[in-house]
Amino acid sequence: MKMIKTTIVGLLIGVFGLVSQAGAQEKGPIGISMPTKSSARWIADGDNMVKVFKEKGYKTDLQYAEDDIPNQLAQIENMVTKGVKVLVIAAIDGTTLSNALQKAADKGIKVIAYDRLIRGSKNVDYYATFDNFQVGVLQAGYIEKTLGLKEGKGPFNIELFGGSADDNNAFFFYNGAMSVLQPYIDKGKLVVRSKQTGMDKVSTLRWDGAVAQARMDNLLSAYYGNAHVDAVLSPYDGISIGILSSLKGVGYGTPKQPMPIVTGQDAEVPSVKSIVRGEQRQTVFKDTRELAKVTVGMVDAMLSGKAPAINDTKTYNNGVKIVPSYLLKPVSVDASNWKQVLVGSGYYTEAQIK
Ligand code: BGC
Repeated sequence: MKMIKTTIVGLLIGVFGLVSQAGAQEKGPIGISMPTKSSARWIADGDNMVKVFKEKGYKTDLQYAEDDIPNQLAQIENMVTKGVKVLVIAAIDGTTLSNALQKAADKGIKVIAYDRLIRGSKNVDYYATFDNFQVGVLQAGYIEKTLGLKEGKGPFNIELFGGSADDNNAFFFYNGAMSVLQPYIDKGKLVVRSKQTGMDKVSTLRWDGAVAQARMDNLLSAYYGNAHVDAVLSPYDGISIGILSSLKGVGYGTPKQPMPIVTGQDAEVPSVKSIVRGEQRQTVFKDTRELAKVTVGMVDAMLSGKAPAINDTKTYNNGVKIVPSYLLKPVSVDASNWKQVLVGSGYYTEAQIK
């Protein structure tokens, strides 16, 4: 009797094993196209997605394009040829993918714009991202609070940096920040000595820290001979680190010449360490684990004929259509809460930061 039971249990395990294996074989593959490995956030995005897709029984094909547009196009076209079921794309340049996406659509392949909106194509099914306008509001709100602008303090000198002009997000970050800063600039409580405002003047191609550092060098030598810069709006940690190097190069970071308030985004390890040292002052944490979950949820729903969860149907017009989106909440991080937000949530261990 015992033997029969064991055999039945064994058979059942075998059958379930086969079923789940068959299930695993049926699911995917999902093509994941990421822009670059030069920033830790995209590595975390890719890793998290692969992990969550795997947990749900999907095969994945993850590719990084090293910020090279033809490279990303070739990788996507290759995925289309190989017959992925869904493409998840964080575009380098949000306007260059239309032909590749048409080929994908012709084969019935669905497309999710991941974090960055894909522009100029009707073949974008959903957009998973963070509230990008709010990212800018958090950065500028930190400057506003720390300088005491609401209390009428000032005038203070500020310089502005934007992200890459081929990334739709860069405009949302900048506009969000300016929604807070512009009234103070208008009142003369914030002074941009260089007069360089507007994305056409302040953007940073490919979010490159070295490009930002060179621009900051020029700003400091041309406009800050005897003056002190009190704040620098920076949209991304890699850019912040470049700006901080430039400032250190001319002697900022001493009691006589304190560092300006420099903001950031992504809570990358070098920047969190810099915050702990008191150099960079703020960053915006976007939990890539949550974005991965939302994205996998969208894919899973689409492939099972269900409607994916969305929470925004009006903000993201890509020039051809409004792309239904799911927006996650970004969180402002500084010296007072990094441990609770980043270590408390298990995103980093304390040892990684110290
Ligand atoms: C992302 C930011 C990131 C930036 C540079 C943007 O599209 O939303 O999180 O800082 O690209 O990689």
